[in-house]
Amino acid sequence: MNSQIISAKEIAKADPVFGQLSFDNHEQIVFCNDKDTGLKAIIGIHNTVLGPALGGTRMWNYANEWEALNDVLRLSRGMTFKSAITGLNLGGGKAVIIGDAKTQKTPELMRKFGEFVNSLGGKYITAEDVGMSTEDMDIVREVTPHVTGISESKGGSGNPSPVTAYGVFMGMKAAAKYKFGSDNLNGKAVFVQGIGNVGEALVGYLVKEGANVTITDLSEERMDQVSRSYGVSSYKGNDIFSQTMDIYAPCALGATINDDTINKIKAQVIAGAANNQLAEDRHGVLLQEKGIVYAPDFVINAGGIINVYAELEKYDKQEIMRRTENIYNTTLEILERAAANGVTPNVAAVNTAKERIAKRKSEQAN
Ligand code: NAD
Repeated sequence: MNSQIISAKEIAKADPVFGQLSFDNHEQIVFCNDKDTGLKAIIGIHNTVLGPALGGTRMWNYANEWEALNDVLRLSRGMTFKSAITGLNLGGGKAVIIGDAKTQKTPELMRKFGEFVNSLGGKYITAEDVGMSTEDMDIVREVTPHVTGISESKGGSGNPSPVTAYGVFMGMKAAAKYKFGSDNLNGKAVFVQGIGNVGEALVGYLVKEGANVTITDLSEERMDQVSRSYGVSSYKGNDIFSQTMDIYAPCALGATINDDTINKIKAQVIAGAANNQLAEDRHGVLLQEKGIVYAPDFVINAGGIINVYAELEKYDKQEIMRRTENIYNTTLEILERAAANGVTPNVAAVNTAKERIAKRKSEQAN
């Protein structure tokens, strides 16, 4: 067969990448494969106008490779907007490793992944995400300088999750202020879905403020442990949206606001850490029509990136917390801008981020 001749059928095969619903003019998508370690990873570099593409690496047992590709495309795009709206000089990127973090993650696999990151020469800088820890980033650091979120004992900023939780708490308070007229969460029924690294720390802030917290997680053991430690209720059923609540805090995985859940949601405010909570943009419109205030995920979960950015810009913990606290102001501004312009908060936030990127691009061109 003449390898130069590509049939129309073969060309059509390319469409699922550049033609993916989540493909949004990404600059570069890198497929990483290593037979010896079993590494199968995808690095998505969405946009580097504001700076190098920084975003965590997620290890997840995806049902198939398309699901992994779709995830990295959505997540890396979200990082572009997150950094832009937070005022950081960073672009948007993300990586996914296909596999079970509990059984398939080895130091060799992490080192190999680090080599792929290194091959990009700093255009992409990694960090931890779901299925990753600071210790994993320490291993990546052995083979590349283009990694953040390494242990404090190794000079890094450590686990970003408590800072992320603080930012989510600030964003939730701002959304409560907008919806209820007060940002005091005392007595508010808050439902936290997913009590991992971020969810648990968020529960801590909420309990301290006197909120009436209910938690849920796939792991019953985890629920029992967090419920005991903080004195909060657990929900072990499988229809959380049948529950009455003032505030829904999605802190597990994305797309929980979808066609199946949208009409069941009773909460008046949605504010959580999970990335890509809206399955599609139109779900943001439906929330608005129902009078539910949605605090855009990428605005309020920026604490983690503020924390790891400190490793590059060398600012201290106090500055990290000051910048994270400012998520309160950003969230209120976005909610007000959305109302003024008759768009959803998500659209208002994306537009604000895009304006900053466009301004920088035009400055670079001149
Ligand atoms: P994690 O892996 O520590 O915790 C996730 C928790 O959610 C786990 O306990 C898991 O059992 C639970 N879970 C998964 N699916 C669930 C479901 N269907 N119902 C109930 N519980 C479920 O992750 P994390 O670091 O706490 O991050 C949580 C979310 O916040 C993720 O979407 C992540 O991308 C996002 N996020 C995290 C950070 C950070 O600093 N860690 C920053 C920004 C965004």
